[in-house]
Amino acid sequence: MKHFENDLELLSAEARSFLNREHGVFIDGKMVLGEERYDIVDATTGRTVSTATDATLADVDLAVAAARKALEGVWAQRRPHEREACLLRLADLLQQNSREISEIASIESGRLLTNTRGIDIEHSILVLRYMAGMATKIKGATLPLSIPYIPRGEFDGYTYREPIGVVAAIVPWNVALGIAIWKIAPALAAGCTVVLKPSPQTPLTALRLAELATEAGIPDGVVNVLTGSGSQVGAALVRHPDVDKISFTGSTGTGRRIAEAAASQFKSVSLELGGKSPFIVLEDADPAVVIPAAAWGIFANHGQNCCAGSRLYVHANRYDEVVEGVAEIARSIRLGSPLLAETQMGPLTNLGHRDRVLQLVEAGKSEGARLVTGGGRPDHPGAYFEPTILADVTSRMTPVAEEIFGPVLVAASFKTEEEALLLANDTEFGLGASIWSNDTRKIRKMRRGIKAGSVWVNVHNALDMALPFGGWKNSGQGFDLGEEAVLGHTRVKAVVEHFS
Ligand code: NDP
Repeated sequence: MKHFENDLELLSAEARSFLNREHGVFIDGKMVLGEERYDIVDATTGRTVSTATDATLADVDLAVAAARKALEGVWAQRRPHEREACLLRLADLLQQNSREISEIASIESGRLLTNTRGIDIEHSILVLRYMAGMATKIKGATLPLSIPYIPRGEFDGYTYREPIGVVAAIVPWNVALGIAIWKIAPALAAGCTVVLKPSPQTPLTALRLAELATEAGIPDGVVNVLTGSGSQVGAALVRHPDVDKISFTGSTGTGRRIAEAAASQFKSVSLELGGKSPFIVLEDADPAVVIPAAAWGIFANHGQNCCAGSRLYVHANRYDEVVEGVAEIARSIRLGSPLLAETQMGPLTNLGHRDRVLQLVEAGKSEGARLVTGGGRPDHPGAYFEPTILADVTSRMTPVAEEIFGPVLVAASFKTEEEALLLANDTEFGLGASIWSNDTRKIRKMRRGIKAGSVWVNVHNALDMALPFGGWKNSGQGFDLGEEAVLGHTRVKAVVEHFS
């Protein structure tokens, strides 16, 4: 394993200087240092690299008030093309500062630099530009009216969409900046204002984004960032009477608590939750294509992907070959510092998470799953975990039923497409699924039968800013990305004009 004891030396001067700052909360365009502070830990070495502010309940009130004032004032006065211009400038600034920001993202999360560059920067720039364009394309409808109990006169009936209001965006650590932008971009395009609460482990990219928002000309109060815990800051945002919508990404358990708390105030809620996505290999699929795709479908981002292909189902006639092929790749994966170009997998986000992954693997072994490769913690500091495969599993085994959110693939075989569909759908989750085949008739049958928000054919985890991304079943409700994400930040007003 290649590892640097002092990987901070690999960083740009800009990233180092940002880490060296004391970080506050970002309210109404200003960084405010709080008295309650906590350490930000480099996920790779476990060392403290920075400190952040634990926001107070008073901060929550101030941030929501700033967002409300901007919503009804300066941001409401900006025309759609001006909101578009702001988001385009933010995309440009992300590009200009890409090295610094991707490095900060890697340090706070342990994710590979190639991954933070590709997702948190490149994909986010596309999302910002797409959502910028949407600001000028939010439509209503004109409708012919018949209203029988007002017999005389003529009517014009139409609908239009208004911004839903102040949005609390609550996001996890696994793609911290990318998911923050999934939330902020459609909200701002629709004319909403935002209070963003990042995971306490990964607050730094959110704070840097807030600074860039100001530089992009987004008025004070439109984007606010509160760092701190979900139980204090997140929960206070959810129950705050002046928050109109909760846009959440995280685990199914937290999502359920948020939905229950928001229901009493009838708040709009969108929830992007956990997943356990099947990767289904039909008999005719080419193993040379499928094997690397299945390996990186799970091991990319160290398995910390909501739509990782974490359940591999392979036709019985191909099963041994595919499982062994994926295992060979798993054994060859180079673990090490996320900042080195040669590293293929960095550490998991923290030691506690790594130990939970281990527990789930051990549970699978004791329930009868066959350990093909991995399953252990390398003898090395940092939250590393070996790429792991558990084969011959059944749906009720713990590591099959539960989201592991780590580099662990479970595998089973099937004999017919009907059986493959039953296995794929035998889960509480419904986020994504991929089907691997060249038989168009079989693909069509499978894609129609899959109960999940995204279905990929001969590709896995292919997300695009134009495609709505959302889960079925316990994977959530509502959408990030696509036009649907913008519409989810609006409310419809129906107007009748009467001419007598
Ligand atoms: P959590 O659900 O633990 O936390 C997500 C966010 O919610 C954090 O900022 C957290 O703060 C906050 N939070 C916790 N409790 C509350 C509460 N009661 N009220 C308001 N906010 C709260 O998820 P993780 O951070 O562990 O992220 C991993 C999960 O995210 C996985 O299940 C993964 O599948 C899911 N995810 C889903 C995606 C999707 O698009 N469907 C994409 C990426 C991840 P704190 O950390 O302090 O608890």
